[in-house]
Amino acid sequence: MSKNTPRIPGRHFLQIPGPAPVPDRILRAMDRAVIDHRGPEFQQLGKRALDSIKTVFKTKSNVFIYPSSGTGAWEAALTNSFSPGDKILMYETGHFATLWKNMAVRMGLKPEFIESDWRTGADPEKIGERLRADKNHEIKAVCVVHNETSTGITSPVQDIRKAIDAAKHPALFLIDTVSALASMDFRHDEWGVDVTVCGSQKGLMLPPGLGFTAASEKAIKNSKNATLPKSFFAWDDMIGPNAVGFFPYTPATNLLYGLVEAIDMLHEEGLDRLFARHKRHAEATRRAVRGWGLEILCTDPKCYSPVVTAILMPQGHDADQFRKTVLETFDMSLGAGLSKVAGKVFRIGHLGDTNDLTILGALSGVEMALEVAGVPHKKGGTQAAMDYLAQAAKSPMQSAAE
Ligand SMILES: *Cc1c(COP(=O)(O)O)cnc(C)c1O
Repeated sequence: MSKNTPRIPGRHFLQIPGPAPVPDRILRAMDRAVIDHRGPEFQQLGKRALDSIKTVFKTKSNVFIYPSSGTGAWEAALTNSFSPGDKILMYETGHFATLWKNMAVRMGLKPEFIESDWRTGADPEKIGERLRADKNHEIKAVCVVHNETSTGITSPVQDIRKAIDAAKHPALFLIDTVSALASMDFRHDEWGVDVTVCGSQKGLMLPPGLGFTAASEKAIKNSKNATLPKSFFAWDDMIGPNAVGFFPYTPATNLLYGLVEAIDMLHEEGLDRLFARHKRHAEATRRAVRGWGLEILCTDPKCYSPVVTAILMPQGHDADQFRKTVLETFDMSLGAGLSKVAGKVFRIGHLGDTNDLTILGALSGVEMALEVAGVPHKKGGTQAAMDYLAQAAKSPMQSAAE
């Protein structure tokens, strides 16, 4: 900040779909001396982190924790699962699915990409059809992004599992839950997922810096024959030390303090109540968008994201210019449109430690900024969100069921 820039009062509104704002309680939990990562105090922390994270993935098998971003966890998932030249089936739900596919190409895999228009989720029918045609079982895996953060679109993980089973296909099932875990229901074991990828800075409410892969028994067994080069991310090196609470190299000690605190917070609220809260805030946001007369990018209500809403700008108006107005006028960061939808959409994140009033603050900021920026819209979107949230507060059970 230059000396001449006046101080901006109050808390910055970080309404991007990750990193999400980090609660004070987590910041305080991490504000500690760095300890010996080979000592007994760390071992207690390591054990707690490695055990309790399983309750969030809903798995009894291993969750590997890396000092990496979500992209690192993508790489861990691929290098521990495949051999050079392996065919895998991936689904284009948006920017993140495309990046994961590009990574697979770089690693020497042969991804087949089912294309889409970025406005709906992965279609289990199309996946099943492709697997049924693969008589010789050349396809080694199906890889899908659970919540496509670039478009605000979710994909039906359970139905895709059913499609794989119905096709009687042995493919591994890999899911990116980077922006879904701890924001919407996910069950690694019950839904038959083999490798689940996640990162720390979205639903887990932590700063960036941890990557996760949960691996089923089948995935771990399969990894013994996967010959893609791997070293930093090798599950094999993790399994032994992890069993007693340690890591093969220096872990992100202080982020692990934050992680166990975050997991406590998730369970103190209750995961089901938390999932309902995210759905409620997403619904409030969509009502606001419709009230403004703007268009939601996702065209299929079954695929609406409880984490982020992507909104199309009216023709002739640039989304990035609008985001600039929002930041400069109201000190709020909104998500940008990425690659194919750059400049065409902006995104409102409604994940992490949010409540009705923070969401309404964000929505009123957007509504006022539409006015400031001269973007054609109708008034009253925020009012529609208020009406909905007030109604939901009067009958919490009913709104949780929606
Ligand atoms: C954020 C995100 C990623 C990438 O994670 P990084 O931590 O930025 O490497 C991958 N997939 C999805 C769905 C994401 O939202």
